[in-house]
Amino acid sequence: MPKTIFERIVDRETDADILYEDEYVLAFRDIAPQAPVHILLIPKQHHARHATVPPENHSVFSHLLAAAQKVARQLKLEQSGYRLVINNGPDGGETVPHLHLHLLGGRHLAWPPG
Ligand code: AMP
Repeated sequence: MPKTIFERIVDRETDADILYEDEYVLAFRDIAPQAPVHILLIPKQHHARHATVPPENHSVFSHLLAAAQKVARQLKLEQSGYRLVINNGPDGGETVPHLHLHLLGGRHLAWPPG
């Protein structure tokens, strides 16, 4: 399987505006931001999507959420608020088959999403 764009970012083969990195997670700015703050958090280990992460790798979910909290603090979004989103599969609007968490903030976000 060819690498996804996100694997290429993890492997430093493609540039990204990286804000946070730890052993398990990389966070960088979305190239087409949908809000003043739009960060993507991805696991360094490849998983196509939320639905396909096997139980033995479920710790990836806590790593992503914990990293999102750190990035939200780093960007001073705790008081104003933010939204975390995972688009899964065709109906979810997923376009890159590498699990990722969107962190959106910096403006009021409408609900429900379109
Ligand atoms: P999704 O639609 O949930 O699969 O989200 C994929 C996201 O990746 C979209 O918001 C894109 O704008 C973003 N994206 C695609 N390529 C890049 C890239 N090279 N650097 C940063 N963000 C990207």
